[in-house]
Amino acid sequence: MNLEQFERYPLTFGPTPIECLPRLTEALGGRVQIYAKREDCNSGLAMGGNKLRKLEYIVPDAVRAGADTLVSIGGVQSNHTRMVAATAAKLGMKCVVVQEQWVPHHDAVYDRVGNILMTRLMGAESRLVEDGFDIGIRKSWEDAIRSVKEAGGVPYAIPAGASVHPYGGLGYVGFAQEVAAQEAALGFTFDYVIVCVVTGSTQAGMVVGFADQGRADRVIGIDASGTPEQTRAQVRRIVDGTADLVGLGRDVREDEIVILEDYAYPAYGVPSDETNEAIRLAARTEAMITDPVYEGKSMQGLIDLVGKGFFPDGSKVLYVHLGGAPALNGYSWYYRNG
Ligand SMILES: *Cc1c(COP(=O)(O)O)cnc(C)c1O
Repeated sequence: MNLEQFERYPLTFGPTPIECLPRLTEALGGRVQIYAKREDCNSGLAMGGNKLRKLEYIVPDAVRAGADTLVSIGGVQSNHTRMVAATAAKLGMKCVVVQEQWVPHHDAVYDRVGNILMTRLMGAESRLVEDGFDIGIRKSWEDAIRSVKEAGGVPYAIPAGASVHPYGGLGYVGFAQEVAAQEAALGFTFDYVIVCVVTGSTQAGMVVGFADQGRADRVIGIDASGTPEQTRAQVRRIVDGTADLVGLGRDVREDEIVILEDYAYPAYGVPSDETNEAIRLAARTEAMITDPVYEGKSMQGLIDLVGKGFFPDGSKVLYVHLGGAPALNGYSWYYRNG
């Protein structure tokens, strides 16, 4: 396998810290040791997050293409569109992002604060449209690409979550290599990796990277899409495309792609009571801020799995924190009393 053949444009600080979480470990009974890999602290660009690790491998292609405008799509409180806007600002490009009504949520300031606020502040043109949640290719995105061309610009199209882009999985192949290097320095290995999954290339990249180390089945994806068949199919496609691209040299088996569907309820972008309790627990034990759309649900999954005895006693579990805290601002009603 060879990841080095692909050019990487640095948008992040470099390897992200791995942090021990002793108070959360204790709160969950102390039989399973919990660590976090802080992808949420990966960059100085507009508060960072997992999308930047993906975009590092996509930017060189946009530059080669002679693009002057990055065009992408997400929900109103999309972390991804914030990260595309940040990347465009950093590169000196323009940015158009389509923001769809992916979430049935009605805080009065939902389309004014958090991610969308920062997106606008960085100079991106944010186009709000009415369409609902879908991780696939969208007409509104194709319309936006066409409108940039018609205005004489050179658009570069980045799909939702930077996932179905051919290079979308490469960043998290590198993540698996980074974890292995950190384990060598720490002197132990992790038994499980917990990661939130929606558009799929984060987990898919990890699966390919860890498959090269013979342990992809230890990556436990926690679905937050609420449309798990579509997410699973998309992860499968990205795994296959990415494995081919980097030269993994074998097919990834179905049992190496683990996605648990039990925590996405009631819907994408809407936290359950259990999600909110998980968010409070991580905040109160470790001052680790998770959000109601993504990381709160993977945190809920982690807590539930520990409680159920899913991990054998003595396991070391690496919770991958992918970012997303800015969206909390759009959900202030839930947390008005903490
Ligand atoms: C996008 C995102 C995810 C999901 O990652 P995918 O690659 O879309 O599956 C999880 N957490 C946060 C904070 C995100 O922004």
